[in-house]
Amino acid sequence: MAVDMVPELLPPRTAPPGRSETDPFAAMLVRYDRAAELIGLEPGIDRILRQPEQELVVSVPVEMDSGDIRVFTGYRVIHNRARGPGKGGIRYDARVSLEEVKALAAWMTWKCAVVDLPFGGAKGGVLCDPTEFSAGERERLTRRYTTGIIRTLGPDSDVPAPDVNTNEQVMAWIHDTYAMHVGHAVPAVVTGKPVALGGSLGRREATGRGCMLATKEMLAHLGMPLRGATVAVQGFGNVGAVTARLLSLEGCRVVAIGDKTGAFHDAKGIDIDDAIAWVKAHGTLERYPAGDAITNDELLELDVDVLVPAALENVITSANAGRIRARVLCEGANGPTTAAADDVLEANGIHVVPDILANAGGVTVSYFEWVQNRSGYYWTEQLVNERLGEIMTRSFAEVLRTAERHRVPMRTAAYMLAIGRVATAHRLRGLYA
Ligand code: NAD
Repeated sequence: MAVDMVPELLPPRTAPPGRSETDPFAAMLVRYDRAAELIGLEPGIDRILRQPEQELVVSVPVEMDSGDIRVFTGYRVIHNRARGPGKGGIRYDARVSLEEVKALAAWMTWKCAVVDLPFGGAKGGVLCDPTEFSAGERERLTRRYTTGIIRTLGPDSDVPAPDVNTNEQVMAWIHDTYAMHVGHAVPAVVTGKPVALGGSLGRREATGRGCMLATKEMLAHLGMPLRGATVAVQGFGNVGAVTARLLSLEGCRVVAIGDKTGAFHDAKGIDIDDAIAWVKAHGTLERYPAGDAITNDELLELDVDVLVPAALENVITSANAGRIRARVLCEGANGPTTAAADDVLEANGIHVVPDILANAGGVTVSYFEWVQNRSGYYWTEQLVNERLGEIMTRSFAEVLRTAERHRVPMRTAAYMLAIGRVATAHRLRGLYA
């Protein structure tokens, strides 16, 4: 691999002609192109990697509690399986689109490769407003969607997991639907299951734990103390709340949190356990009685040591990147920063731990769950967390080393490592005629 090229000679990163800055697949390709060029990727493998292996679009008819039948659109995209089965979450959201699912599937390919798991990348989603559903409607939607995409699923072909607005219960229904089709239990067909059904201890906290570890590594690299570091976290769901809690347990001062209903700032630090208890009782952070109410935009622009966007894509764009004042940006969400914003952050000396590394803790423990399901032998939470720690620390060091060696930002370095590993698998496998 020719990885010693001079990055300064490359053109600025912008969306391809006709594609907007916030088109997620275009944003992925901008980063991909830059890294592929730097490693001297040959054109044949480049042509394979820049498009998904499979794109499945299914209609999902659901009988609502009222007796009405509504039809939703579901997607499952498999980007690449050169290194192993497709792996990637399922999202229920009113903003789901094929372009978004394609980007998320490709990010899963790079994420699994950057932390060196034997998985490829996939992602799924259903275009819906999940807040409208009763539990029964959600279950019927899940079972019908699972049936729609069942031809791709299997522990050796495509393994879903939770993502935005899906959880352990949804994974339990996917598992059961698949089991009913094949006639026996296959726990390794899906990860992020309840522990009582073959889920892994530590999976629920794994993405947040990985973000905490990545933040810790970055602060140590920069010589910044962890204790007392100020942190703002956008998104207070699985990833955001756990990251905030674990960073506060490490001695950081979480001065701002927020969710889709708004955000709160308290310079003295927010009691994260109390905020989690509030969300458990009320569903969201709305009217949380602590600190000052601020907007989500204001949260992103706070003068803090660490900013963790842990909600959705495209929250840091060319429009607001110049106003980001955090020293470290640790991307809990997938795709929170656009490619155009990357350049501004870099010029302003902001250290970015890219999404495909920062939030890889979730898929890492999903991998542990898949291994445990297949061996039928279950690990202690301590062992899960130790092994997660080893993988995050090693991967962070590999990305940092690549970044320093080639004088590129960590995002480009992570893509270079990942694309190189997937390309190696393609070269070794060759093409089936
Ligand atoms: P979640 O549904 O548990 O939580 C999402 C949070 O974001 C909620 O608090 C919600 O209120 C908030 N939010 C939604 N829209 C918002 C907006 N416009 N402004 C501010 N906040 C908003 O989802 P999650 O599982 O925590 O996922 C969050 C992100 O992390 C997504 O990008 C997801 O793809 C990524 N991710 C999740 C995992 C995982 O294991 N769950 C793993 C890797 C990456």
